[in-house]
Amino acid sequence: HLSKRLQTVSDHVEPGSRLADIGSDHAYLPIYLAKNHIIDYGVVGEVAKGPLSNAISEITKENLLGVLHPRLADGLAAIEPDDQVDAITIAGMGGNLITHILEAGRNKLSGNEKLILQPNVGEPVVRKWLMKNGYQIFAEQILKEDGHIYEIITAKKAASAVTYSPLELEFGPFLIQQRSSVFIEKWQSEIGLRKRVISDMQRATHKDDVKIAAIQAEIKTIEEVIT
Ligand code: SAM
Repeated sequence: HLSKRLQTVSDHVEPGSRLADIGSDHAYLPIYLAKNHIIDYGVVGEVAKGPLSNAISEITKENLLGVLHPRLADGLAAIEPDDQVDAITIAGMGGNLITHILEAGRNKLSGNEKLILQPNVGEPVVRKWLMKNGYQIFAEQILKEDGHIYEIITAKKAASAVTYSPLELEFGPFLIQQRSSVFIEKWQSEIGLRKRVISDMQRATHKDDVKIAAIQAEIKTIEEVIT
């Protein structure tokens, strides 16, 4: 049984995909996909020994060592040409780390793979990397689970360059269109965070008016998007 977050990530993995799940920890996502015969080949990448041994014991317990290949590696270094990976999932990390993994592993990307990314924070950084590297975002989800709000971004290399506006990069090209209730909730709480920062700054001895004005402008932008 997967979390709603990982279930939503897994929904984007097409049947028959040759998957690489990078930063897999317990390997719950690839195990679920393999057990349900959605994939019959998966690379399970982990940079840390503890999580890798968790992955190995879970995969062994499920009798899936012939299907899932756990590897100790930093980011996309887990992927070998023979794997012929055509789907990569990177979930449960910050957007900066996901971007770093993609950037450092660019030589491992054939350009044919679907990227399914679930940053916990810093989604705009991920979208900017995708745009800069010629990817097109073709699906986005936002969901709430256990009090946390998560976004999932799916992308593929585009035939020609795709440009996203600053608002699309910040809020998500699909999410800003859909404006779901979870999306509104997320950005309402982002407004709340910014208002608290401003009131703290206004109480400070050396008040930074330029910074305060910049945050007020952000609040105005968010309000315009969600109302
Ligand atoms: N992907 C799972 C999920 O979404 O539930 C596990 C997320 S867990 C919070 C993040 C995992 O990423 C950790 O096990 C960590 O060791 C691993 N990790 C961090 N940096 C990594 C890197 N450069 N390469 C591979 N794995 C990495």
